[in-house]
Amino acid sequence: MANSLTYVPPEWEDVKRALVIMAHPDDPDFTCGGTATQMARQGIEVTYLILTNGDKGNHNPEITRNQLIALRKIEQRAAADVCGVKDVLFMGEEDGFLQSTRALRYRVTREIRRIRPQLIICTDPDRYFVGEGYINHPDHRNAGLVAIDAIFPAADNPMFYPEMNDEGYLPHKISQLYVFGHSESNVKIDITDDLETKINAILCHKTQITDPEKAVPSWRERWGELQEDGSTRYYETFKAMKFT
Ligand SMILES: [Zn+2]
Repeated sequence: MANSLTYVPPEWEDVKRALVIMAHPDDPDFTCGGTATQMARQGIEVTYLILTNGDKGNHNPEITRNQLIALRKIEQRAAADVCGVKDVLFMGEEDGFLQSTRALRYRVTREIRRIRPQLIICTDPDRYFVGEGYINHPDHRNAGLVAIDAIFPAADNPMFYPEMNDEGYLPHKISQLYVFGHSESNVKIDITDDLETKINAILCHKTQITDPEKAVPSWRERWGELQEDGSTRYYETFKAMKFT
């Protein structure tokens, strides 16, 4: 998938902690599994914050919603282990109905103030369509909105939630934001050497990937970028914003 955008290299020198805020179990692995793997290898503590419980993500009538919620937590934790991710947190909102409510903004802001990441990765709240054959899941849009609304102005403004000070969760301003799925992506992470790790992480989501033998070759095909020398490389791209 070639494009003409100009990309800058990632700047992780000052990043000690990164927080990935996504809608569903498996979203981090699909969107930034390679990037999370590289960050973890460089000593960055990566945390996944999963906003919904994923209880709609299956069509098997023999699995109850509660069973699915439990399974998806196990799967996401296993996938995070594959990538070297330090921690996975679950907000437990109902799958399919995610909204940037006041209550959820409070909880996400609290996690940002507690974890104090320098870098957050989230999804694009304005992405309605993906290519020509896929309507973006509304939870992916709303997860981006939840993240952004918590990052600014809530997390770094002491007038928001002063009671968090009593818990020791003081205002916190992040220095970088990576937005996945944005039309103006400007950071490109070469994950070619970590592609197998990313795929292995995705395959931990057994409730989601029912036919890996068909899925894996299609991912390789879709994600690969043919180079001028005939080789294929794999990337994760983001719109990166910096705050000073
Ligand atoms: Zn999703």
